[in-house]
Amino acid sequence: MILYFTATGNSLYAAKQLDDELLSIPQEMHRKNRHYKADRIGIVCPLFEFEMPPMVKDFIRGSEFETDYFYVVVTYGMHHGGVAVRTDEFLKSCGIDAGYINTLIMHDNALIVFDMDQQRTLEAGKQVDEHIAQIKADIDAKRTMIQEPEQGEIDFYNGYIEHKKKAGPMYSFPLYRIEDSCISCGTCTKVCPRGCVRLVNGKPVYDYTGCINCMACIQACPVKAIRFASVKEPNPASRYRNVHISLAEIIRANKQDLPEAE
Ligand code: SF4
Repeated sequence: MILYFTATGNSLYAAKQLDDELLSIPQEMHRKNRHYKADRIGIVCPLFEFEMPPMVKDFIRGSEFETDYFYVVVTYGMHHGGVAVRTDEFLKSCGIDAGYINTLIMHDNALIVFDMDQQRTLEAGKQVDEHIAQIKADIDAKRTMIQEPEQGEIDFYNGYIEHKKKAGPMYSFPLYRIEDSCISCGTCTKVCPRGCVRLVNGKPVYDYTGCINCMACIQACPVKAIRFASVKEPNPASRYRNVHISLAEIIRANKQDLPEAE
């Protein structure tokens, strides 16, 4: 069994290769009693600021897992910053002794920092499928391993923390503005895993209370009408979704049942 969170399809693509029984964390969050029992239980999610996403941590804190083998795979695009060690510490604080924590390099979809077109040119060299196959072999064999970061990753993470202390967060709310090119398709309302977006008079209106900056909405808008309100992104003309994952799959994973807008 894998519990996954996906915004642009990378973690879903990885999860689909690793197991047949997949449960979406944004959907599972609605369950009152979350008790999961399986021979192997995995969490597959993207890296968020060198940690597991806050929503995934909340999910784990409020769930019970009954398994002989608990594992985590964190997808990332450029640097993982030693997330496996911090994830292990977090899981231990929740009373979970993970058998295996690893990272998987994929496309970096952080629009604030990266040009999606440029990132696509790097994909072939990342050997994603080969790495997924290695991780699957590890998991099938119930290998025990917590990924040890190389010094370069530790240094990168420490540099990031120092920079954040001086410069503050990379973004602020309100995060987005909507351009007149919006065609009122409602895609943004369906891919948001937190139910932050509603159409009011045909236009998206955000309630940022629960927003985790996963960027599912800005990446999925078919006409690129969603833009960052105050951040200058490297390439506003380029957006990303994993080529193996359909928009319908992301909607199925993330759509929240919102009351009708007034
Ligand atoms: Fe408008 Fe884009 Fe949202 Fe569709 S996804 S409603 S075009 S902002």
